[in-house]
Amino acid sequence: MAKIIRAKRVKKSRVQPLSKKPAKAAVQKSAGKPANAPKPVAKKSPKPKPWTPAEVHEAFSRFRNANPEPKGELEHLNPYTLLVAVVLSAQATDAGVNRATRALFAVADTPQKMLALGEDSLRDYIKTIGLYRNKAKNVIALSAKLIAEFGGEVPRTRAEIESLPGAGRKTANVVLNMAYGEHTMAVDTHVFRVGNRTGLAPGNNPLEVELALEKVIPSEFMLHAHHWLILHGRYTCLARKPRCDVCLINDLCRWPEKTV
Ligand code: SF4
Repeated sequence: MAKIIRAKRVKKSRVQPLSKKPAKAAVQKSAGKPANAPKPVAKKSPKPKPWTPAEVHEAFSRFRNANPEPKGELEHLNPYTLLVAVVLSAQATDAGVNRATRALFAVADTPQKMLALGEDSLRDYIKTIGLYRNKAKNVIALSAKLIAEFGGEVPRTRAEIESLPGAGRKTANVVLNMAYGEHTMAVDTHVFRVGNRTGLAPGNNPLEVELALEKVIPSEFMLHAHHWLILHGRYTCLARKPRCDVCLINDLCRWPEKTV
């Protein structure tokens, strides 16, 4: 009888389930390593120290002093042509888009004129741009939607712009910023690189970098911050060979591989 009671108590309480992994505490206490212990994984380099508000202010003050009114490089005539240019610029250079749109916008600078031009002719104008067949479809579809649902105007909210064929979050941010003066942050490849490399706004994807930049950049700089960062990435903080020696913010940058 006594044996039966003892067996029940043991089963309910202290007995640990069998596990392939030894308990953490036990491993820490153990003096030696097991023979088949895995090799230690190389340590990641430590996270850079976040920028202080004073440093962020200093960096953007320098960008502003150097270029008080930065401009985007996509040529356009109005919010509609800006929207079309941004849609065409996906995986293409601004210069390449401009070469095609100069002639296109001379004949079609409104959704109505674009529909009148038609998809076949539009394809001819933009055939030097990558993915032009799909982009032509999207431009015609978004033009039809602008007329049907927005009175032929480019809408002013992110959700409405994102509802247009071919337009995503980055497109909405560019249009809201450049056409309507909103404090949005469009993250392209350059802004993504600069945000991460400098340590100003680290993130694993464009949305994380966008939100991090919005958090740290003071409102007084937000109207132009997107352009300053793009231009910085395009002409100074180049992907392969950043020009750290002439960089305006090289003393603030956290990149361990900077060359100054
Ligand atoms: S110091 Fe070099 S890596 Fe850092 S932002 Fe300037 S150009 Fe880029």
